Amino acid sequence: MLTKSPRGTKDILPEDMYKWLYVEEAFRDICYKFGYKGIRTPIFEHTEVFKRGVGETTDIVQKEMYSFEDNGGREITLKPEGTAPVVRAFIENKLYADAQPVKLYYITPCFRYERPQAGRLRAFHQFGIEAFGTINPGIDAEVIALAMNFFRTLKIKNLELRINSVGCKKCRSEYNKILKTYLKDKLPSLCNTCQDRFERNPMRIIDCKSETCKEQLTNIPLMIDHICDQCKDDFESLKENLSLMDIKYTVDPTIVRGLDYYTKTAFEIISNEIGAQATVCGGGRYDGLMEELGGPETPGIGFGMGIERLLLTLKNNNIEIPKPKDMDVFIVTIGDKSKKEATKLLSKLRVEGISADKDYMDKSIKAQFKYANKKNAEYCVVIGDDELEKGIVTLKNMEIGEQVEVELDNIVTELKNRL
Ligand code: ATP
Ligand code: MG
Repeated sequence: MLTKSPRGTKDILPEDMYKWLYVEEAFRDICYKFGYKGIRTPIFEHTEVFKRGVGETTDIVQKEMYSFEDNGGREITLKPEGTAPVVRAFIENKLYADAQPVKLYYITPCFRYERPQAGRLRAFHQFGIEAFGTINPGIDAEVIALAMNFFRTLKIKNLELRINSVGCKKCRSEYNKILKTYLKDKLPSLCNTCQDRFERNPMRIIDCKSETCKEQLTNIPLMIDHICDQCKDDFESLKENLSLMDIKYTVDPTIVRGLDYYTKTAFEIISNEIGAQATVCGGGRYDGLMEELGGPETPGIGFGMGIERLLLTLKNNNIEIPKPKDMDVFIVTIGDKSKKEATKLLSKLRVEGISADKDYMDKSIKAQFKYANKKNAEYCVVIGDDELEKGIVTLKNMEIGEQVEVELDNIVTELKNRL
């Protein structure tokens, strides 16, 4: 127990850290280019934020949340997703008073109690963006474009963008009636979850993963065939905007998304290389969410992207993330005086912005070189007591093995020139 992390969690080890830093940097960069500013919200919120913001009928709220009562008797939940907290922060900090639209991005851990498998963890990470304040479908297209451009900068090519419209309050309630009429006879043979969804959110039945439900519901009425004229216009406008940006898509009427608050645009970006958990990015519009959480009527649209699934996609597409250099210089010492000199030199090098290290274990010279090799040091500076008398050190290029003598006083300048 003590030496094993909880089921569904994974350590991100030093050897993999560069991949995380690389995609995070790329994500920040694309957000900057699209005019999205960063926001960080706490790891936990009042449970009510997610009950209201994600929706009582969702899998997340019904079975996946890490909830507990804190010592002060508050109902608290670890973030299962990023949107509801950002909306809460938007209201609390009155960001609706800023120039609209307000465009935000986040990088956050998320927690969901699910069955762990490849690409599905209990503690995972998401990139996300949200754009608040406009119903213009151009922004829906922009949100999708940001995700697609991000994938392009990472050189991921064979992704599939699927879009749908899940309608607005008005046409959804009309559609729900049609749906319920269709479902009524079939209800007894559907799974328990779907029986539950029937009253509360029948559209979610389309999303059921159970094979028996799927078989029963092959010709289930689809929202897209019942959307109102306004939703239809908006969907057409979204498609036009995507085409203007050369973004290819397919319309997939079965996308309903897991969260209750979606209206109109819903989309998923699929990577067929990463197995069953193929959705790398999912998002959509949530025009009623702000009011649901007690804020002023403000439309919004955004996406969440699983970072673990993104890294899996990169790996399965054989896309190499450039590995940064581990270390510029390692100082090898022979003798007591040289050790003191090494401490001085190391400090100077680091002040100059050079990445440098030295031995702390009284290793033999051979072992020091071995360590430097393991750490991929580009250069070694060898300081020996005898040479030190003459004010000289040896500089070794570890890749080609070339060695030159350099005056101690000049070594920092010499290294700066070479690096
Ligand atoms: P799924 O259908 O795979 O369960 P979801 O609809 O629950 O996904 P969202 O809530 O939209 O997913 O989250 C956005 C993205 O976060 C997903 O597309 C996925 O890449 C990632 N994600 C969701 N749940 C997990 C998880 N348990 N482990 C790792 N990544 C996840
Ligand atoms: Mg899920």
